[in-house]
Amino acid sequence: MHISESIITRTWEFGETDLLVSFFTADRGRLKGVAKGARKSSRRFANCLDSFCLTRLEYERKSGRDLYLLNAGKLIHGFPELRTDFHALSLASYMVELAETLFPLEVAEPRMFALLKEAFNALSGQMKRDELRIFFEAKALTLGGYGINFERCCDCGRLYAGEGRAVFKHSKGGIACLRCEKESARLPGLDPDTAKGLNQIQTTPLDDAQKVTLTDGMLDEMKRVLRQHLRYSLGKELKTERYLA
Ligand SMILES: [Zn+2]
Repeated sequence: MHISESIITRTWEFGETDLLVSFFTADRGRLKGVAKGARKSSRRFANCLDSFCLTRLEYERKSGRDLYLLNAGKLIHGFPELRTDFHALSLASYMVELAETLFPLEVAEPRMFALLKEAFNALSGQMKRDELRIFFEAKALTLGGYGINFERCCDCGRLYAGEGRAVFKHSKGGIACLRCEKESARLPGLDPDTAKGLNQIQTTPLDDAQKVTLTDGMLDEMKRVLRQHLRYSLGKELKTERYLA
């Protein structure tokens, strides 16, 4: 039997009285399990299987299947703010979908789990939502292996010294110098401060990344870059994205 701190990402009704539960753990990645009788008696799973709950789950693998059997759960934190505020709920759903897209079942990445937990905390707090979305996207993509390369021009290889504007090329997941590319709607430009800030967000923990001061201009540039980077890296638009508009 395993016990893991888990984030419940979604549930489905299953059979007459059961619930099928998708959950993220730090040590085993994202898993799916059945909570037997959870819809009939809530004693073993008191208020702990709602989406976005942080729950200590007891579970075991059913032989030879990737479906686990959930034995019991205990609520650690319910993040009630995420359920009463439509925008917070939408952003939390979007974060979960991005994490699920980047990490298939049973691929453990403790930092992704920690990032989700920190982001839910931040969503319940004072942090500006558009900043939090940028931080989460940049960090999740980096953990998933899609960090943007700010080190050198992806065309000519020239080191980027952080002086002068650069151009983001989604097809290369990196920046190009202005000798190699021109800014356009398809190839958004970045100020040196934007490039430096986004690089810092990618590489530092969420708590420290929040110390990066973002101007409105930097935010706009980061949004444009990340929009293109996400679509291209994932090869699709996330379903939950439209609720954020
Ligand atoms: Zn170049």
